[in-house]
Amino acid sequence: MNTKVRGTPTIIGVPFDGQSSYLRGAGDAPPKIREAMACDASNRWTELGVDLWAPGVFENRGDLRLSDSHFSQNPGEPGHPFFEIERVIAELIDAGKRPVSLGGDHSITYPIVKAFAKRYPDLTIFHFDAHPDLHDEYEGNRLSHACPFARIMEGGLVNRLVQVGIRTATRHQLEQAQRFGVEMIEMRALPAEAKLRTAGPAYVSFDIDVLDPAFAPGVSHREPGGMSVRETIAHLHAIEGEIVGADLVEYNPVRDFGGTTATVAAKILKEILGKMVAP
Ligand code: MN
Ligand code: MN
Repeated sequence: MNTKVRGTPTIIGVPFDGQSSYLRGAGDAPPKIREAMACDASNRWTELGVDLWAPGVFENRGDLRLSDSHFSQNPGEPGHPFFEIERVIAELIDAGKRPVSLGGDHSITYPIVKAFAKRYPDLTIFHFDAHPDLHDEYEGNRLSHACPFARIMEGGLVNRLVQVGIRTATRHQLEQAQRFGVEMIEMRALPAEAKLRTAGPAYVSFDIDVLDPAFAPGVSHREPGGMSVRETIAHLHAIEGEIVGADLVEYNPVRDFGGTTATVAAKILKEILGKMVAP
């Protein structure tokens, strides 16, 4: 195990769903996940034996304000949501924190990882998703939530991309994976706990739709044949490598039933936080 990075995990809401291709709604997720996490129906402890609400275990940065009124069309300019996301994540890392972002749609992972890449040149991403999100462009949009990992890989932003739970790969996306050297572990190849190892720093990008819609119907793109909550937690716990940041994206409250998916998202968030701070 490499040297521990002991920055405090810091939750930041990124209420942005402007790059969703099918349905909006994921932008309303952050407060719902926080609410479910604080719900008295469960307790403060994670399965790895961490008392999450003990003083200083994690911090809350609140939600990012992404103003539509000053919306810039250029992602490289102040006022564009991607610019603001990258700036705030960079600030958190530079303040010694380990940012844990609550999406929002999956497009936000591109600006988030841009901030990480400048500070962690040998990053490995463990990406949980039903979808590879490797499209070169989707419906003419290169910043769509179907594209973030194409942008990340063509930019050479990370050392390794390991995808888990994929079950919608198209020929184009398989070609993209090959072109970029993506380690795609398809759903039908699970379990794959032993493959979630890296020597350097790790970043977890968790799209809730990696779960079977029977467990998590509150997503925009329900894809049957997915992981159970238990399989997911087993794979998260199996990660070897220091987790320096994470995101939890694509929870869509509009599609949820009685907040059950919010409860699942909160459980996943708790276990990611517990994994980040467990001894
Ligand atoms: Mn995704
Ligand atoms: Mn997905």
